[in-house]
Amino acid sequence: MSEDLSRCAIHTMTNKPWSLAQCCAKYAAAGVGGISIWRNTVAPEEGGVGLDEAVKIVKGSGLAVPAYVRGGFFPAPGSAERQKAIDHNKTMLDEAAALGADQVVLVVGAVPGMALSDSRQQVRDGIAACLDHAKAVHVKLSIEPLHPMYAGDKSCINRIAEAREICEALNADADGHLGVAVDVYHVWWDPDLDAEIDKLGKGGWLLGFHVCDWRLETRHLLTDRGLMGDGCIDIAGIRKKVEAAGFHGFNEVEVFSEQYWAMNQDDYLDLVLERYQQV
Ligand code: ZN
Repeated sequence: MSEDLSRCAIHTMTNKPWSLAQCCAKYAAAGVGGISIWRNTVAPEEGGVGLDEAVKIVKGSGLAVPAYVRGGFFPAPGSAERQKAIDHNKTMLDEAAALGADQVVLVVGAVPGMALSDSRQQVRDGIAACLDHAKAVHVKLSIEPLHPMYAGDKSCINRIAEAREICEALNADADGHLGVAVDVYHVWWDPDLDAEIDKLGKGGWLLGFHVCDWRLETRHLLTDRGLMGDGCIDIAGIRKKVEAAGFHGFNEVEVFSEQYWAMNQDDYLDLVLERYQQV
């Protein structure tokens, strides 16, 4: 059942204990095709190595970079804060371009106490304000709907439908630079999943596909994702659907897990790749 790893990409956060250089070296040595880079490995203010050094490491590895993670967080009570978020996303677009990333993933944000509908409007306005910059640097923006358990403070967009509506509304301005990242962890439960994947495909908005699993007894809302095969998501079935909808990009492994971060990361990478090929 094994398949080659050329379309496998791994998010640096999956191997959180490793540096960017370690991730690049280990993934490339294992035959993995791509790396999705979290900003904490790049930006000095987040503990990263700095953009110039990161670019050197990534280009030297020969790995493709499907995604730079994660922009977004547009809604805020005041206009100055909203502008700050827009500026931050433009900075991330510049960094993504330097790293050769195809897209910046947007975790769109939410503000406790603000109506989700208002937040969504601010997200739409924020994305609209970034589109010219995205086009100028040739990097796409992909909206990642997050599971509703994050609606309080992380994402006012919880189903593909809301993300797709923004893509539709901004389609003319976006000129192919706006779409959706489908993460099985967030959307596997959606009764409209099949129809929405179809619509994304038809609109040309299906930009990313993230895999992990939903543990039946989740111990933590953020850092207890399962590895493919640990849980109850029909990953192979969803993958078939995104491929039928015309998606031929990377399958990005994105697992945040205290349990797996505590493992020897070389052993863990072997396990990740074993599960990727089995599941
Ligand atoms: Zn994801």
